[in-house]
Amino acid sequence: MFARFLTGKMAVVTGSNSGIGLGVAVELAKAGADIVLNSFTDSPEDHALAKSLAAEHGVTARYIRADMSKAEECRALIETAGRCDILVNNAGIQHVAPIPEFPVEKWDAIIAINLNSAFHTTAIALPMMRAAGWGRVINIASAHGLTASPFKSAYVAAKHGIVGLTKVTALETATDPITCNAICPGYVLTPIVEKQIPDQMKTHGMSREEVIAKVMLQRQPSGQFATVEQMGGTAVYLCSAAADQVTGTTISVDGGWTAL
Ligand code: NAD
Repeated sequence: MFARFLTGKMAVVTGSNSGIGLGVAVELAKAGADIVLNSFTDSPEDHALAKSLAAEHGVTARYIRADMSKAEECRALIETAGRCDILVNNAGIQHVAPIPEFPVEKWDAIIAINLNSAFHTTAIALPMMRAAGWGRVINIASAHGLTASPFKSAYVAAKHGIVGLTKVTALETATDPITCNAICPGYVLTPIVEKQIPDQMKTHGMSREEVIAKVMLQRQPSGQFATVEQMGGTAVYLCSAAADQVTGTTISVDGGWTAL
């Protein structure tokens, strides 16, 4: 149904050298889109990832280093890409602690990377999309953009914030051939989740298996992690003509979490 309909479109995916960002980039490349991968590192592996994506899917792919915690680097990422038909705001970090002990620098970093970066990239990308006559902004929010959990104050605040930014972006582009939506994943077993497990074990006094079953997947009625391929497939759908009138909304891919 979606075979290579994105040929000639340029997709910029922030935070895409691992996890959901990479999964989304792969599915967009399979649909024919040229890709800009990004993270804050600049290793040979980062550039090799872009090279193999291009070779495997017959698209062009570049890796551009930019630190999404810095406003000017967010803006420079889109300017350096030179074109941005599909913007996927995905970069994100997490920290788990009760509010009184939550480190101020972690709060600031989470708000900068998980929320502010999307404002900066969108600000530069929208004029490019208007000039090109087509565009898609896809914000990777979270089930935590719609619900809350204890010990995740900054993350929940940032994700609720990006859902709000999604709605404003959709309203400001409503009469343009541009849409903006948020994908709200439940738990997906990526490095960001792996890194939470030791903190959650400490906070809840549980084993790894107990944290996965009783803290993480307990919220997900399907009892299964969602996958990066499912996030990528949802992004491809949002880029399709079937989604031309889908804007300003959230799409949950969470095994029923937010239905509870
Ligand atoms: P991940 O840790 O694999 O990916 C995060 C990506 O962001 C990495 O590529 C990392 O290099 C990049 N990144 C981190 N700091 C950066 C910075 N300063 N500048 C540029 N890039 C930076 O985790 P993931 O699970 O793939 O997370 C991707 C997004 O999905 C995040 O926004 C996260 O909040 C969201 N999400 C994940 C889950 C889940 O269960 N995994 C659930 C809901 C939402």
